[in-house]
Amino acid sequence: MELLNLHKDGSKVELFDVQQVKEVAEKIQQQFEAIHDVETVGIMEAVGRVLASDIVSSEDVPGFNRSTVDGYAVIARNTYGSSESMPTFFKIIGSVEMGKEVTQEIRDGEAMYVPTGGMLPKGADAVVMIEDVEVIGDLLNVFEQVAPRENVILQGEDVKLNEVILKKGHRLRPQDLGGLAAIGITEVTVYRKIKVGILSTGDELVPPDTKELLTGQIRDINGISISAAVQALGGEAIYGGIVTDEYEEYLKRAKELFEQVDFLILSGGSSMGTKDYTNRVMNELGQPGVFVHGVAIKPGKPTIIANCDGKPVMGLPGHPVSAMVLFDLFATQILNQLHGVITNRFAKQLKAKISRNVASQVGRTDYVRVKLEIRNDELWAIPVFGKSGLITNLVKSDGMIEIPEFKEGIVEGEWVNVLLFS
Ligand code: AMP
Ligand code: MG
Repeated sequence: MELLNLHKDGSKVELFDVQQVKEVAEKIQQQFEAIHDVETVGIMEAVGRVLASDIVSSEDVPGFNRSTVDGYAVIARNTYGSSESMPTFFKIIGSVEMGKEVTQEIRDGEAMYVPTGGMLPKGADAVVMIEDVEVIGDLLNVFEQVAPRENVILQGEDVKLNEVILKKGHRLRPQDLGGLAAIGITEVTVYRKIKVGILSTGDELVPPDTKELLTGQIRDINGISISAAVQALGGEAIYGGIVTDEYEEYLKRAKELFEQVDFLILSGGSSMGTKDYTNRVMNELGQPGVFVHGVAIKPGKPTIIANCDGKPVMGLPGHPVSAMVLFDLFATQILNQLHGVITNRFAKQLKAKISRNVASQVGRTDYVRVKLEIRNDELWAIPVFGKSGLITNLVKSDGMIEIPEFKEGIVEGEWVNVLLFS
């Protein structure tokens, strides 16, 4: 039997020791620590960055009671019982100007015009919408009753003085930066960007700007898509270019890039072919080396993950679809861990109905690319089938669904979770 596991040149064939998706995720969790170097950036540059400290407001927002509609500030109880047929009369005593403080006070039976966002005069506790009144000179007919605080945002209702509005480990989204602007914070302390090196291997690969391909050549896809995926997660991508399937050269280039980065991703050469050196290269980069060699997953079984002197190194399968799926699953996890980001995995999930039966093997987690469509007001996931060597397969999809290792497949009309591509 041993003999069957020898290459033609007599060298021993290594075998995959596949692990389940969950097991791999747990191992990654235990292996890599966050890199907590910090820097200060302006809010205009902070989107996608991860907060290194809690953000505490030093003031109330809004700083004054303000109206949320165009209308008339009144004392709510004065409007009780008002209706289309039984309006209540008020005396208009003035109008509030936008961005200005009002000193005039409202008493029973009085009203003041307030624009949306304008300050509520003292004494008033609600605003009647302009649609529900009639103005006759300085007389106001109110046709609708309002409750106290109706159409009003109270001082501090949005943010209170000393309130923690964003937590350390939060990845800043555009709306968060708006929130920071609201409380006058224009600079934030964030963790530095994790540097991720990407090296593509394969004798057949040429740079994407190659005008004419010779027979057998293909343009490097993964170098580009994986670099972009790193950037989309707030990392700094360092594309190391293409290296041929020559062990010495591959090791040298991988070492050079490894030295410059916090996380190295190698694309291609991760299977068991005679010229697949990724596993060997990874074991040369540091100790203890490879701890995942093969994942029970489709696509993407030949995936390798190593810890080289504390630094993660990942070997992605060369098929562009496999590379992307495996990046999404594990490289994302590693990168988020290094960035110290607290993530909500479910923020990127949607529920949809599957449009057809999909078979799957027990003992392996299957990931099927899907396109989303609305049919009769319901969200449907339409599988985009095709070999994982087809890049447009990914271009046509919005996300993917997971068929867990214990399931034999899913049937048409079944609810599925769609993991959206970012
Ligand atoms: P490998 O993982 O090296 O065995 O490659 C598997 C398949 O993916 C082969 O058909 C390769 O040509 C293809 N491939 C490998 N690397 C890339 C890449 N960077 N871009 C596009 N296709 C690739
Ligand atoms: Mg190859």
